[in-house]
Amino acid sequence: MTATNPASASASISERFAAVRHRIDQACLASDRDPGSVCLTAVSKTQPMQALSEALATGQRVFGENRVQEAWQHWGDLRADVPDLELRLIGPLQTNKAAEAVALFDVIETLDREKMAAALAREIDRQGRHPRLLVQVNTGAEPQKAGILPDEAEALVERMRETHGLRVEGLMAIPPVDEDPGPHFDRLASLARQLGLSVLSMGMSGDFEAAIAAGSTHVRVGSALFGERNRPHMPS
Ligand SMILES: *Cc1c(COP(=O)(O)O)cnc(C)c1O
Repeated sequence: MTATNPASASASISERFAAVRHRIDQACLASDRDPGSVCLTAVSKTQPMQALSEALATGQRVFGENRVQEAWQHWGDLRADVPDLELRLIGPLQTNKAAEAVALFDVIETLDREKMAAALAREIDRQGRHPRLLVQVNTGAEPQKAGILPDEAEALVERMRETHGLRVEGLMAIPPVDEDPGPHFDRLASLARQLGLSVLSMGMSGDFEAAIAAGSTHVRVGSALFGERNRPHMPS
């Protein structure tokens, strides 16, 4: 029956969530990791409200969005009804959106420059809200891609702490689409170890098992959970 095959286009959202959670557990077992050590971030960008409700009904509480405005449309009202919701910004942030981002997100994963750190520090101070922070690293040194270069990450983390009073809890990366992601995952993991950071956001629908093998603590999965996006926007 196609309806029970989670890989099929007709699978329901709840079947897809169960299948992805199962794959995460298997990947953890395969590398001797506790399945509780990997958090599934459901990437809800471009999805209709109905899909969000179905995801919530499966018990999913951690969601990733890559645009501040769309995240507000999705979650601005809903979050009052879901007290244990965790919203993670996984897309590039503009300084002029810092206030809206600090007001909504529990975690901002895409900090990659000091100017942004300064803007966030101001808003955190003003609003008294303290989103946890990850630094995005451009492990492939791709010119068009967001993220700080690996060699510059340590200095940014230090300046964030010393100049802006911001604590970084981990690193995030999006490997180049046309390369084996494995070496990029390893590179991010070793950089995090070197900096003493425990959170590693890496792995998407196509490669989250490899990311888990490399030590990912947060996989960001969209299409494997919700189906192909009809209004795709590429990670950047
Ligand atoms: C869209 C997006 C994802 C999810 O991608 P899928 O391939 O659909 O799982 C993960 N991370 C970021 C930063 C994204 O923008």
